[in-house]
Amino acid sequence: MSSRIYETEAVVLRSQNLGEGDRLITLLSPSEGKIRATARGARRGRSSLVAGTIPFVHGRFQFFRGRELDSLRQVEVHSTHVAIQSSLATVTVASFMAELLDHTTAARQPAEGQFTLFLGALEQLDSVPESVELQNLLFAFELKLMDVLGFRPRLDQCLQCGRSEEQLDAWVLQPEAGGLLCSACAGLLPAGGVRLFVPERKAMQYLLNNPLSRAPVLQLAPAARTNMFRALRMYVDFYVNHKLRSLPFLVAVLGLPDTLLPGEGARVYDGASAKRGRQE
Ligand SMILES: [Zn+2]
Repeated sequence: MSSRIYETEAVVLRSQNLGEGDRLITLLSPSEGKIRATARGARRGRSSLVAGTIPFVHGRFQFFRGRELDSLRQVEVHSTHVAIQSSLATVTVASFMAELLDHTTAARQPAEGQFTLFLGALEQLDSVPESVELQNLLFAFELKLMDVLGFRPRLDQCLQCGRSEEQLDAWVLQPEAGGLLCSACAGLLPAGGVRLFVPERKAMQYLLNNPLSRAPVLQLAPAARTNMFRALRMYVDFYVNHKLRSLPFLVAVLGLPDTLLPGEGARVYDGASAKRGRQE
């Protein structure tokens, strides 16, 4: 085999039409990281690449290494995750996860953790969960992605003064700090954050510490759920540091409040109550 030909296990993150009958695909491989490749003839009926180049297909792929883009030669499909395509909600969640991965992985850098996490999530999405279960899965995925990338939030004590979780009811999740601050410490720092109360803090711990398959059963009151989503968005967006194109659609499809979308003042937290906490 030519040294410019290589083979790897991978999953398709994104697939765009290119020219008359080709596709431009983005894949995630445990050993190669993010791969961008052209798939010639992938939209023509007879090509073996047709089925292997649609989003969320997992398989073994063979490429010809190019200067900018690689070129897909062969695919051996392991799983198409076809059930995900049967529901708008599951496709939307899987696409959002893929967008997060696209922005947090690089070419030629192993991404074993991200790859395993995404495959696990696709497996859960294959069972087409209900709306609330889908939200839980997404939240768990985002927390675990932070962990894999080295930004696991500390959720059991104040990162500044060390006060433990039993000592306080209200906390501030602050991305710059990498986790929780007690309201007193948060009030002393200029940076923003989102206030977290016991239910959503415990829920985040649960999602972070349990396998993805346990995420759907999480029970959480709507207000706590909204607050958790708000805190997570701020935390994840800080580290992903890209405008997420599919976020507005995701919010609409999952029935999440659109006040959660980033915009003017979205990152301002309730500084006044944090200061009150300091005086208590
Ligand atoms: Zn503190």
